Amino acid sequence: MELTLNVRRGGTRRSADDSHQAYHVDVEPETSVFEALVKVREEQDGTLAFRGNCGVGFCGDCTMLVNGRQEVVCLMPVGKAQKDDEIKIDPIPYAPTVKDVMYDAKRFIWDKVNSFSPGVVFNGVEQVTEEELSPVRRAMRCTMCGICDQGCTVIDVNLDFKGPAALNKVFRYVFDPRDGRAKERVVEAGETNGVWDCVHCWEASDHCPFDIDPTHRIMELRDRSVRLGVKSGTGNRQAARHYNAFERSVEHHGWLDERNVAIQSYGGLIRGGLKMMPTGLAALRRGKANLLPHRKRPGASAIKALFARYREVTRTER
Ligand code: SF4
Repeated sequence: MELTLNVRRGGTRRSADDSHQAYHVDVEPETSVFEALVKVREEQDGTLAFRGNCGVGFCGDCTMLVNGRQEVVCLMPVGKAQKDDEIKIDPIPYAPTVKDVMYDAKRFIWDKVNSFSPGVVFNGVEQVTEEELSPVRRAMRCTMCGICDQGCTVIDVNLDFKGPAALNKVFRYVFDPRDGRAKERVVEAGETNGVWDCVHCWEASDHCPFDIDPTHRIMELRDRSVRLGVKSGTGNRQAARHYNAFERSVEHHGWLDERNVAIQSYGGLIRGGLKMMPTGLAALRRGKANLLPHRKRPGASAIKALFARYREVTRTER
């Protein structure tokens, strides 16, 4: 079939009216978009820049926008991609563009993955059964195409968010029975721009063409984090104090003592008290606070028992 590939041309600067160059090719409908681009580069224009590697959907490198949709183009036949015998090809939106439709994979994905020290740190377990490894098998099939990141609604507003692709990689090691760094990894993944910044919109799972379900993997990392007793974000001392004060308040009173949590979060009675004094006085003046001691809620002892039970269970799981 005869087709026109309209391919975005240009350097790093992107704009709404990026120019596109038309290349006419004669290929079979089953030919992949990637193969068609290779044909253009080999026969018509050696300067055309795009990413691609394995050509069989294994490496996830050849991610592009095809008629506005993110695709791993080696898996996309031109016969399916074309509209009126034309295919418009653009670079993926959130990754920095290097040239034409080539994106900067290092900044877009690999720097984030590398920040989690990928690679099993051997813990001495030499043999594992298939059953023991089964939780990570699915995550291991990830091609790092980054299409989940392109669909991510958090990356849309914060490019520093580690994103579902990198966090799926963390999951792969945390749940590997041969890895000895599970807790450290969960701590790292729980810091700013990590698992707790996910808004569970499930777009990542909807976008993944390989059924990895990365949003679920993020939820499982959160669950493991709670079970390991990891207080995420504690690299920030104020956040750590806030966690502890919040926990102590609910454990002892059955509900929040907001006044005391605020004071403890800012460093305790003297420092926190001084810091919170203007707010406290304003709240008193408006009748939104009082000086009475904080009371326990009805059923507080049952809540305290829940904390004790939680500690007992998580101690055996750690
Ligand atoms: S989880 Fe799916 S969409 Fe995300 S990088 Fe891996 S294979 Fe691609």
